[in-house]
Amino acid sequence: MFRYFPTATTLSLALALFLAYSSLSLSAEPVKAKKVLYIGIDGCRFDAIQKAEAPAIDALIEKGAYTGHCLILGDRYRKNDTISGPGWSTILTGVWADKHGVHNNTFKGSQYDKFPCLFDLVKKKLPTARCVSHVTWEPIDKFIITAADEKKSYEQKPHTIADYVKYDTEATDASVKELKEQNPDIVFLYIGQVDVTGHTHGFHPTVPQYIEAIERADGHVAAAVAAMKSRPTFDQEDWLVVVTSDHGGKGTNHSSGHEVPEILNSFLIVSGSDVAPGEIAEQCYLVDGAATVIHHLTPLDPAWQLDGTPRGKTKQ
Ligand SMILES: [Zn+2]
Repeated sequence: MFRYFPTATTLSLALALFLAYSSLSLSAEPVKAKKVLYIGIDGCRFDAIQKAEAPAIDALIEKGAYTGHCLILGDRYRKNDTISGPGWSTILTGVWADKHGVHNNTFKGSQYDKFPCLFDLVKKKLPTARCVSHVTWEPIDKFIITAADEKKSYEQKPHTIADYVKYDTEATDASVKELKEQNPDIVFLYIGQVDVTGHTHGFHPTVPQYIEAIERADGHVAAAVAAMKSRPTFDQEDWLVVVTSDHGGKGTNHSSGHEVPEILNSFLIVSGSDVAPGEIAEQCYLVDGAATVIHHLTPLDPAWQLDGTPRGKTKQ
């Protein structure tokens, strides 16, 4: 009897260990809720961000994947103007202008019924996803954004820089409130004052007013990111932050910039827990932002005919 007692104990221990290990395996790494904060800064040059004191954007760059060479026109199709209508259509649909149909700021010829806003695409796969947009350029709200659970343009008249500072603050405050009080899956925040300042004083790193506008925009990015991180459920969530712009600028303009590098080069910043930090080696394009956002939430469907490629993520 004495001989068998240790054996029985060993068996019990082994069984206990096995059960403990099994339950550990079952409870390990619960799947985190995937969510995206997508921020657009109109007419923002990457070389000016680098010149500016922009700690919030710098932190996203430092911990994320980024490129300052994100071309706003593709190889296949380049007939649209290098302005906001086509730019934001591309950023929010993930296709070039031959597909979304927007060539200028009249929005005539738009084909959003065939190539809709990414909210629409995400909801085809995840019908309960909460998608929210707060912008300060009304055409985005009026023409591009569909399938939103909440959306609003804070643009009003007049359009001085000081006015736009106010509108951008309102859009940011609304996004902060959304992030703190609701359970969004995608928050799109658009900031307009950098473009307005470029048109007034010049799009260039040496223009103090342009730099100051970027620094204020960085404050809005900081507020949105802080609200995201303050969520009580943040630890159970997997947030991707994507920041981009629709075009650069030269002098006080950016129209007809098809051969102008300062206008053609935007930037793309992708920051999240499964993003490999560092400069993205591949050539990136303006269509990639939407593909990156969607891909974080649900696999891309070939039927959507997206032109963009997800960037920065190491797994999905
Ligand atoms: Zn623009």
